Amino acid sequence: MEFNFKKKFGQNFLKDSNVLNKIIEISNIDKESLIIEIGPGSGYLTRYLVKKGKVLSYEIDNDLKEILCNEFKDCENVEFIFDDFLKRNVKEDIKKYSYNKLYIVANLPYYITTPIINKLIEEKISIDKMVIMVQKEVGERFSAKPGNKDYSSITVFLNYYFDIKKEFVVSRNSFVPKPNVDSIVISFTKKKNKLLVNDENKFFKLIRDSFKYKRKTLKNNLNDYDFNIINKVLNQHNMSEDIRAEHIPIDIFIEISNNL
Ligand code: SAM
Repeated sequence: MEFNFKKKFGQNFLKDSNVLNKIIEISNIDKESLIIEIGPGSGYLTRYLVKKGKVLSYEIDNDLKEILCNEFKDCENVEFIFDDFLKRNVKEDIKKYSYNKLYIVANLPYYITTPIINKLIEEKISIDKMVIMVQKEVGERFSAKPGNKDYSSITVFLNYYFDIKKEFVVSRNSFVPKPNVDSIVISFTKKKNKLLVNDENKFFKLIRDSFKYKRKTLKNNLNDYDFNIINKVLNQHNMSEDIRAEHIPIDIFIEISNNL
């Protein structure tokens, strides 16, 4: 393939069919699904995805247009949008599709992993399953447990919607060009029973505020809140008021939010 890889777009293309097969197996894509891919590159993963469902694939690099359009010219199962995924109105883009389930399957551009996840959460796109390859350290953050330094507001948001699983580590040798970091595939499966939050906006604000300053205690981060109520919940769980947000499990955050 004649192509000048662009570092600025995080272009490290997969070249390992074992990894691709495993991603597809884990995704376990239902018939009649729509699959969103962010960053098809030259279409290695896309080739596997089009066999499983309709694919809507966003690629920022116009230099890949010719390669992708040629490669998939006879394929009716894919639409490419050559644009910055972060600027798209995804809900609008997917409106014309009829599907039973929505999947996100992608080897993400690592430099914007968190903005992509934040966009999906903030825009409340109803995703049934997401299988993504990310930088190993970032994957640890998404799947961190309370008490771990990587446990953050994004972990809590993701845990609210999904059951999260670290699937497998992918060596840097599986890519061209070879990146400086290893990768991990993480799966996010929509929770069967939604957690019982009375007021989502209130809950989301509580999480954002609780983690605002990482070094501060919960009490200091939440000085605008009625801390007597919060303290009562903490005490019931044998937690002191000097606790930091990174030690609090999602169900206790929910209890606090529902009591406020
Ligand atoms: N999926 C391919 C594969 O596995 O071989 C390529 C993955 S590569 C890590 C990331 C891809 O995302 C690149 O093709 C890059 O051009 C594209 N990309 C980077 N920023 C993007 C953005 N903001 N919107 C859409 N695509 C983007």
